[in-house]
Amino acid sequence: MNHASPPALEIADLVKRYPTGTEALRCVSLDIKAGEFFGLLGPNGAGKSTLIHCTTGLAQPTSGTIHVFGNDAVDHYEQARLAVGLAPQELNLDWFLTVEETLDYHGGYFGMPRKERKVRSAELLEAFSLTDKRNERNRTLSGGMKRRLVLARALMHRPRLLILDEPTAGVDVELRLELWQYVQRINSEGTTILLTTHYLEEADQLCDRIAFINEGQIIAQGSSEELAETYGVTSLEDAYLGLVGRTELSRARIAADAP
Ligand code: ADP
Repeated sequence: MNHASPPALEIADLVKRYPTGTEALRCVSLDIKAGEFFGLLGPNGAGKSTLIHCTTGLAQPTSGTIHVFGNDAVDHYEQARLAVGLAPQELNLDWFLTVEETLDYHGGYFGMPRKERKVRSAELLEAFSLTDKRNERNRTLSGGMKRRLVLARALMHRPRLLILDEPTAGVDVELRLELWQYVQRINSEGTTILLTTHYLEEADQLCDRIAFINEGQIIAQGSSEELAETYGVTSLEDAYLGLVGRTELSRARIAADAP
């Protein structure tokens, strides 16, 4: 971890109120260090996507600040955006482009020269086992290939912070494990990762630190062990159940109560 570097993501007192009146984020503060694998966990509607949208310029914060590697996400949007790669939950690929064109157009959008785009896309196609498919149209790919392409596209411009928005929602076991291997490798090569998920097991396995978000507020954060210790339980799942007031669902408790 590079301590000389500014935090990969520094969010201070972030509030987001939608025109409908919904307060999706209520004074959220969060620091992610360069090189960390950070998990943002919370139930549906907690505010995870809103936080990502504010970070990537898709939504305007109502108040508060966001810095990506020291760049203000609003005032210095371009520098901040260049540092971020986003793999959204929905597979938003253009059906009529080929796999290689998808990477090439993304690189072009981020200002990469043609030669560099060619080298980088070849490298990513290889890393994500898509080289054979490079001339196929996206619509012909399997679900797993589409997922891998979305990840490769997010990495095309060499972002220092990769945001993965529920990358394994609705994904089968093999693909989930395969995606975990990819993202662990990317992280070990130096890319900071922000993963949003509602799978506790996923956060437990992958993340250095985890923040729980509920109803637009960060209600706890720390390593999986720290969170379990703070809440006097043995697993992250039980820490979570304690925080949302549903300890009756605890598997450890149900097992202990069994005759
Ligand atoms: P999550 O990603 O954790 O499921 P979201 O950030 O999508 O949560 O949503 C947080 C809250 O903000 C929810 O109550 C949701 O209905 C609301 N919300 C999200 N997007 C919009 C929008 N564009 N307009 C109005 N309300 C929204």
